[in-house]
Amino acid sequence: MREAPRHPRGQHPQRESAHDIDRQRRPGQEEASHGGRLRDLIEPRARRRARDTAHEDRQPVGQPKTRHAHHCTPTAPRTRARHSGEQATASYTGLMTNTGRFAPSPTGDFHLGNLRTAILAWAWARTTGRRFVLRIEDIDRERAGSAQRQLEDLEAIGVDWDGEPLIQTARADAHEEALASLAARGLIFECYCTRRDIREAASAPHVPPGHYPGTCLTLSESERAAKRASLAALGREPALRLAAPSPEWTVFDELHGSYTGPVDHFVVRRADGVPAYNLAAVVDDAYQGVDQVVRGFDLLSQAPAQAQLAHLLGAPEPTYAHVPLALAPSGARLAKRDGAVTLADLRGLGWSTADVVSFIGASLGVPGARCASDIAEALGIEGLRSLSTEPWVVTPPSA
Ligand code: GLU
Repeated sequence: MREAPRHPRGQHPQRESAHDIDRQRRPGQEEASHGGRLRDLIEPRARRRARDTAHEDRQPVGQPKTRHAHHCTPTAPRTRARHSGEQATASYTGLMTNTGRFAPSPTGDFHLGNLRTAILAWAWARTTGRRFVLRIEDIDRERAGSAQRQLEDLEAIGVDWDGEPLIQTARADAHEEALASLAARGLIFECYCTRRDIREAASAPHVPPGHYPGTCLTLSESERAAKRASLAALGREPALRLAAPSPEWTVFDELHGSYTGPVDHFVVRRADGVPAYNLAAVVDDAYQGVDQVVRGFDLLSQAPAQAQLAHLLGAPEPTYAHVPLALAPSGARLAKRDGAVTLADLRGLGWSTADVVSFIGASLGVPGARCASDIAEALGIEGLRSLSTEPWVVTPPSA
């Protein structure tokens, strides 16, 4: 087993388990889940694009669009994607690959760290000749208008994508189909535990801290029936967890090498009936033909679970690159409260979009970048592979 990545403790606030992720992704009080509305926001854009075919779609896929004021010039060395322009048509068995992705949750405006991760994901896909797709992970929480602003920010910095963004809430049938396939093979069990039950359960030997203690894994049918009935009396349903056949799994990460991590009996469908992040992300990555996942370091701990799940669903296991997070000088994850950290904030200080890209480029050792393709070109695949794994400590600009 490879050692855990070399990061000073406390510098990378990792999500400890799928259980924690689901806790974080519980529908919040300020942020209601309303995927239907999100679709309405995206569809007008699709229609706009259809109208603009003459203007845009004749350009080779991957070329920056021309309708933005600052005109990012296409300079990145790029092989035309094999499946350029086509929408993925495979089911979760993943017939199409050669695709990178960015999968934001529409919970607010991107900050500098999100923009940097998006640029790196895009650069990695384009410099390796891949399609690049977006997925709006609105399955849990959504802040009104956020997805649209995220897409506009990506376009502004010169990150383009192939096809229309996939809206995760539109994939409910596919998520249920994957759950049914796992259930048919006995790979799922009902879990009746509350968060408190899990917290207070005496930790079983060999169960990593924060992982599911195994309480409901081996119940008899009559015990299950009794627990189901007492939950139903409270108007609640059980969550579903993966009976993960292997307690650990190894993934390949471009920055962290071969990485072996524990696989929890993680939640695949929450007690409120919503598919869990790990399930939805894996099913949708396969559907979108994703074979390269570039995202923030906080999700490295989830990669073994996701790769094992992909394997169980007969989907290809992607290659990963978990790129450093942006931290505030305090060492906490960069957040809006830290000051001027979004494109809109920085524009408010008089920065141009190109100035923001330049600031991000400088953090990656690329001076003078004006748009994403400048960064991709300067780094190339060797530069991407040798990126530092240290977090990016950002002092939010004040002018
Ligand atoms: N939607 C997740 C987030 O915004 C990212 C998921 C992923 O890249 O797998 O944190």
